[in-house]
Parts: sequence; structure tokens; C-alpha cells
Amino acid sequence: MDKLGRRNTLIPSLISSALICVLIMLIPQDFNALIILANMAGKFTIGVAFGLIYLYTAELYPTIVRSLAVGSGSMMCRVGSVVAPFCVYLTSIWIFMPLSMSKPRIAVIGAGLIGLSAAVCISETIPTCSVTIISDEFTPNTTSDVAAGMLIPHTYPGTPIYQQKQWFKETFDYLFAINNSSEAPSAGISLVSGWQIFKTSSSAELPFWSDIVLGFRAMTEMELKKFPQYRFGQAFTTLKCDCPSYLLWLEKRLKGNGGEVHAKRIANLWDLQNNYDIVVNCTGIGSRQLIGDLKIYPVRGQVLKVHAPWLNHFIRDGDGLSYIYPGIHNVTLGGTREKGSWNLSPDPNISKDIFDKCCALEPSLQKAQDIKVRVGLRPSRLAVRLQKEILVQGEKKLPVVHNYGHGSGGFSMHWGTAKEAARLVGECIATLQDSLSKAKL
Ligand code: FAD
Repeated sequence: MDKLGRRNTLIPSLISSALICVLIMLIPQDFNALIILANMAGKFTIGVAFGLIYLYTAELYPTIVRSLAVGSGSMMCRVGSVVAPFCVYLTSIWIFMPLSMSKPRIAVIGAGLIGLSAAVCISETIPTCSVTIISDEFTPNTTSDVAAGMLIPHTYPGTPIYQQKQWFKETFDYLFAINNSSEAPSAGISLVSGWQIFKTSSSAELPFWSDIVLGFRAMTEMELKKFPQYRFGQAFTTLKCDCPSYLLWLEKRLKGNGGEVHAKRIANLWDLQNNYDIVVNCTGIGSRQLIGDLKIYPVRGQVLKVHAPWLNHFIRDGDGLSYIYPGIHNVTLGGTREKGSWNLSPDPNISKDIFDKCCALEPSLQKAQDIKVRVGLRPSRLAVRLQKEILVQGEKKLPVVHNYGHGSGGFSMHWGTAKEAARLVGECIATLQDSLSKAKL
């Protein structure tokens, strides 16, 4: 430093610490190592500048009082910078500390479609909270990765139709907007037109979602000629989410909003009580074990994912058992619905049956290549469970928002239910803040 000169060291250190501060703000959240490196470099340059200023002051004003003031000032700053990050933990032991001093800490359990969409929605509608996903499995190993991802709702007998219609419309509008943006390919969202066909003749009743999908109408005679075994059909255009693209895109969006993701199996919700203020349960079929909900049961589904890029129209037998759903990366052929089966092993006989039935509907599938078999357990329930619950253990309370049991229709409803879950989390935060301020009176 003596060779360079103090001024020649001080000025570049101050300028580089300012530049590094700006750089830290610009580095994307995903580049953790780079952020840590920039922080260390910034700390080093500030350290150099501070040391020099300290030296100058002591040399230029060599009185004991001034040296003491600079020395103790520097010591207090150092102690303060070590203690400051821990202040947020005071909220749990000191009721006079406002909750707003710390960010409400939200844990979302589950990294399937429902957990990821709820976490993104919470982080966007309540930006003042911190959101962490905790899950034992991630894409491509969740049920959501097996699904075809079509926006064709299934009815939940225990949920009012107006509610299901609202969730579906919110989901459709949200995905339609993504499809209409430059994000569509990375999010894996595509528009797909096709036919739902029935062996029996027309029913007068229209499905509740007929005015939400695009261009819903009865099939023409000409169209029905493609399916000689069938007597009636409906044509419409809907949306499809390709997994794992969509799940990865949601995870990236969450991290972009400052959210975190941890791999861990949760055996008891109370294990989260020390580190989080509110828990959002999106564990799908895992809720049966985690919270002992015996109303949720598996409906096993086996599908084939094939390469057949010439197909761009979907075909669905109205019985819901045979379907051909073309997506961006592959075509999903289905399927099965085995209520109560927990078997995740593919059955070769079922695969052959699915393939034969789909070829009967679309003979060109005989030329399909790269056939992969996938099995998933639909987290089925009479009604989706979307509600608040306050768990109590002695003096301790833990607010939980449940969001699970989407069965065969998770993709069709996920954004609508995520919005409702975010609203319930907002209510829990308001209640926590209210009880804290009452405790102070
Ligand atoms: P999952 O994807 O199973 O995610 C649950 C998450 O919770 C996982 O990450 C798991 O690891 C985690 N977890 C569970 N327990 C714990 C624990 N104790 N601790 C930590 N983490 C835990 N729906 C449609 O709308 N359209 C379709 O075309 C469609 N096709 C389908 C086809 C098939 C063959 C199948 C099987 C399903 C289909 N579905 C479809 C339904 C859809 O896939 C589901 O509704 C949806 O995936 C459910 O998402 P989820 O996040 O609740 O569950």
C-alpha cells in the first residue's frame, strides 16, 4: 500500500465496493455461488477502504478522544452487523416486537403442481412474506409429471359446481395469458383442439365448462365419419401443460420471487413450528399418512408417452378411459382408473391394451416411436380440501392451510385453488398480527 499510495488505494476500493453493490442487485437469484463471491469481494473492498479511513483519522487528528471515538464507533458497527440478522427471531419470544419487523415465514409442503402453484401465487400476492417449499420428491418424480396436463375438468361430487367453474375459469384465463406470451414454449403451455366422442347419442346437458373452453360445439357429420363406432361428439379448443417443463418453470418463477426449495420428508407438521409461522399442506396423496386424512384415496393411472409429432388434434372417449393428448414434447396415450390401487409398477398387459385402443381411434399411432410407460396415483377425494385449520398443542398454535385432493383434475383447477390458498394464508397472517397487537395491550 505504501508503494501505491493511500489515495491510490482508497479511491479504487470505494469505487469498486459501489460497483460490486450494484452488481449484486443485478445477478439473478439462481447464481448463488456468484452472489456469495460478489459479497465477499464487496466486503473486502469496503474493509480496505474502512481501514485506510481509520488510519487517516488517527494520523490527522491524533488526540486520544478522537481515536477512542473512531475505535468504539467501529466496534459498535461490527457488533450491530453480527446481531442484526438475529433480531427477527425475537418475535417468537418477545411479543412487543412487531410481526412486521420480520417477514411472515410460510412453508409449503409438496413440490407437485399444487404445491408449486400455491407457492408462486403466495409469493406474488403477499410479497412481504418468505416462502419455502419443502418436499421429499420433485419433478420428474411426482404424480403431476405423469399427467397428460389437459384442461378438461372432472367433476368433484362434494364441491359446489359454481366453485369448480370459478377455479377452472381462473386457471384457464391464467394459462391462456401465458400461452399468448413469449413464455409459452418455456412454460410448456399449448393450445390444442380436438374431439370428445360418445358411443351413445347426444345428451341435452352441456358440461359446466363448455362456455370457458374455446369454440365448444357439437361435432359435424363429416367429423364423426372419422369414428364409425361413435354416434355423437363435441369439438372444442383447450389448453395443455407439458410436464416437467411447466413444473420447472413454476419453480424458477418462485426462486425469482425470492422463494426457497428444500428437499426433506415431513413426518409431523409440528416439526415446522419453530421455523415457520404458517404451513400450507399440498402433499396430495401424502396427506393420508401425514395428517391421517382417510377420505383421500389413490386412483391409479397408467399412461404411455410416445413420439408422434404429426398428431395435433386430441381425441377423448367420453368414458374417460381412452385418450390421445398431443403436447409440445410428446403425445400422452391413456389410460386407466383403478380406484384404491397403490401399485406404481407398470403392467405390460395394460400398456398393450392402451396402445391397441388408441390405435383403433387413430391408426397412424402404429408408427409412434420411443414409447415410455408411466404410472401415477391421482390424489382423489369427494371434494378438494381447501381450508384453514389451527392446530393446537398446549399453549402452542400452528395455522395450516390445506390444499390437496385434486384427483383427476389438478391441472384444470390448480391456479384457481392456488389463489384461494393464497387468500387463506393472507387471513392467517392478519389473525397472527391481530393477536400480537392484542397481546401488547
Ligand atoms: P403430487 O404431484 O403427487 O405432489 C405431491 C407432492 O407432495 C410431491 O412432491 C410429494 O413428494 C410431496 N409430499 C407428499 N408427502 C410428503 C411429506 N410427508 N413430506 C414432504 N413432501 C411430501 N389432471 C388434469 O387436470 N388433467 C389431466 O389431463 C390429468 N391427467 C392425469 C393422468 C394421470 C395418469 C394421472 C395419474 C393424473 C392426471 N391428472 C390430470 C391429475 C393430476 O395429475 C393431479 O390432480 C395433480 O398432479 C395433483 O397434484 P399434487 O401436487 O396435489 O400431487
